[in-house]
Amino acid sequence: MSKPLTDQEKRKQISVRGLAGVENVSDLKTNFNRHLHFTLVKDRNVATKRDYYFALANTVRDHLVGRWIRTQQHYYEKDPKRVYYLSLEFYMGRTLQNTMVNLALENACDEATYQLGLDMEELQDIEEDAGLGNGGLGRLAACFLDSMASLGLAAYGYGIRYEFGIFNQKIVSGWQVEEADDWLRYGNPWEKARPEYMRPVHFYGRVEHTPEGVKWVDTQVVLALPYDTPVPGYRNNIVNTMRLWSAKAPCDFNLKDFNVGGYIQAVLDRNLAENISRVLYPNDNFFEGKELRLKQEYFVVAATLQDIIRRFKASKFGSTEYVRLDLSTLPDKVAIQLNDTHPALAIPELMRILVDVEKLTWEKSWDIVVRTCAYTNHTVLPEALERWPVDLFQNLLPRHLEIIYEINRRHLERIAKLYPGDHDRLRRMSLIEEGNVKKINMAHLCIVGSHAVNGVALIFINNNNNNTLYLYSAFHRTQTLYVQQIKTDTKHLVQLMKMKKKCYHTAKMIIKLITSIGDIVNNDPVVGDRLKVIFLENYRVTLAEKVIPAADLSEQISTAGTEASGTGNMKFMLNGALTIGTMDGANVEMAEEAGEENLFIFGMRVPDVEALDKKGYDAMSYYNRIPELKQAMDQISGGFFSPNQHDLFKDLVNMLMHHDRFKVFADYEAYIKCQEKVSALYKNPKEWTKMVIHNIAGCGKFSSDRTITQYAREIWGMEPSLEKIAAPDDIH
Ligand SMILES: *Cc1c(COP(=O)(O)O)cnc(C)c1O
Repeated sequence: MSKPLTDQEKRKQISVRGLAGVENVSDLKTNFNRHLHFTLVKDRNVATKRDYYFALANTVRDHLVGRWIRTQQHYYEKDPKRVYYLSLEFYMGRTLQNTMVNLALENACDEATYQLGLDMEELQDIEEDAGLGNGGLGRLAACFLDSMASLGLAAYGYGIRYEFGIFNQKIVSGWQVEEADDWLRYGNPWEKARPEYMRPVHFYGRVEHTPEGVKWVDTQVVLALPYDTPVPGYRNNIVNTMRLWSAKAPCDFNLKDFNVGGYIQAVLDRNLAENISRVLYPNDNFFEGKELRLKQEYFVVAATLQDIIRRFKASKFGSTEYVRLDLSTLPDKVAIQLNDTHPALAIPELMRILVDVEKLTWEKSWDIVVRTCAYTNHTVLPEALERWPVDLFQNLLPRHLEIIYEINRRHLERIAKLYPGDHDRLRRMSLIEEGNVKKINMAHLCIVGSHAVNGVALIFINNNNNNTLYLYSAFHRTQTLYVQQIKTDTKHLVQLMKMKKKCYHTAKMIIKLITSIGDIVNNDPVVGDRLKVIFLENYRVTLAEKVIPAADLSEQISTAGTEASGTGNMKFMLNGALTIGTMDGANVEMAEEAGEENLFIFGMRVPDVEALDKKGYDAMSYYNRIPELKQAMDQISGGFFSPNQHDLFKDLVNMLMHHDRFKVFADYEAYIKCQEKVSALYKNPKEWTKMVIHNIAGCGKFSSDRTITQYAREIWGMEPSLEKIAAPDDIH
């Protein structure tokens, strides 16, 4: 180990890099001091660390402004096709470092803050994560925004500006405790409110069928207030926009109705309307049919579509006489990508606008909708699929329910013609599920209303699993292909929905088990200094950025057929970890790219799982046959890890023994054997490193730039470009 550098040596090293131009550094210092004075209204005697962070963030932000304005001007002049990425989640993490890197300002800022006697890393750590997502789906949306900007696509992310993002996780006595994520408390230097583009969103009311057309009347209005966040491309001077909507009560909210409770109560009740954008639902891969969530989904869709159509009509192309008379050219200029079914209401909402407002025929409108929309599926787990009760719709969105019924009527008519007499097929493929509670199947709505459907990994293609709701080719689904391949198994769905109610409880018990095992192992006199079990508290983007590059082994051990893709697996691969995993999700493609011999693959494949399902999975048989497994389960259920409450984990073990839909015991032996192979190779650093190199060399396919290039060409009909646009004269 070399001696730590003195400050002066560090300073010299930075200067030797030669990247931090002297002028740039002195400008940055000037602007930093200007922001501290004029924006933060502080001098250095009273400024806090947070003031310095905000001064730095504003200094860096200034470099985005010219590029942002110029990019939007450029799009207006060139008028390319626009792509709209609609998502209920954008898991962005922090913005400062990403902006400095993409604008090539990092070294200069480091030098400038150093010269000001500040530590840039320490300042960066003050930034709150924008935690507007649960996990993979939201992080994918964030990566896609970055790639779309880096590839020069005229792209927009549209979502909700949740006042509270994913909760902060505290571990208290080994248990998870949730805390509200008040990420906006100190202000957000990256966003710009645009009250001038506020839009009304309607809820409830009733539908009137008149000779002049259909009217949705007596609605309650909530305003959608947009906040824009810049999305810089990588060193290409492009800055795209992520526009997030915040709910705002109209000034006359509840005041028209004199009987409600008077003026004071009406003002207090404004909170009710504004609750729509209050909090992100912390549901990852789980559908919870709450009215507030349906309101969120319609809120983002209704506000966004108004914005899309306004921009289309105001564009050079859209404002021509020919287009003004007819929106049939919309699909040539607009692509809408639905991130899972959460924004599925875009399909009936666009129909409503075209039919009820623009007065186009149903047929013409439907053609426009299908050619504009595309849908990405994220899971086949039945408990995650959105199936909204018809009653909820009838009350909240009565016109949309009518439209969905009409879409379904035509859809079933078409299937009946293709498959005369196949009544079971009609039932399976209907957008409406009959039963105790009638429900709308949002995935079916998305498939019928889109011209392209894609899954997030190859494993879903030609996957003949009965639990699988649909099977599709990755891109370019034709209507007939879909008709042949769709499948459902509703009995299974209902059963699993009931089971999943306990889930949160189970997840919390698993966390408690991990921390409890840690308490025993970490304090053991023999292994305590050689082996540690640590549960990482409050995992989030900034923690992932630290822990993933530090890892040697990535465990991706889901039972085959249950993980749609996974993205953590790819991040570890790219960052030099080796993978121990099942043939599930994107592990399959990782093995294909790096060579199966360069991953530690173990356990059942999808056909093995299906065969086991047929035979019947019996956890007890593994428990009785494998002594170490029996010992582990007995220790857990017998209180070895919970000495103060012996039966604490009894239910958890009971679940594994009698109701484990993931059948984890079936992979146990293969997993342990495979771990022994891992341990053996770890002792041979040369061979280990060789394997790492094969992995890093093979992970190019998992770049979101590569993915977005394929989306652009195959779904959106757009061509990515690596060219830079002209740089603006940056501020001095
Ligand atoms: C990538 C990522 C995820 C998703 O990981 P998976 O392995 O795909 O489940 C979740 N959270 C954070 C912070 C991430 O960066």
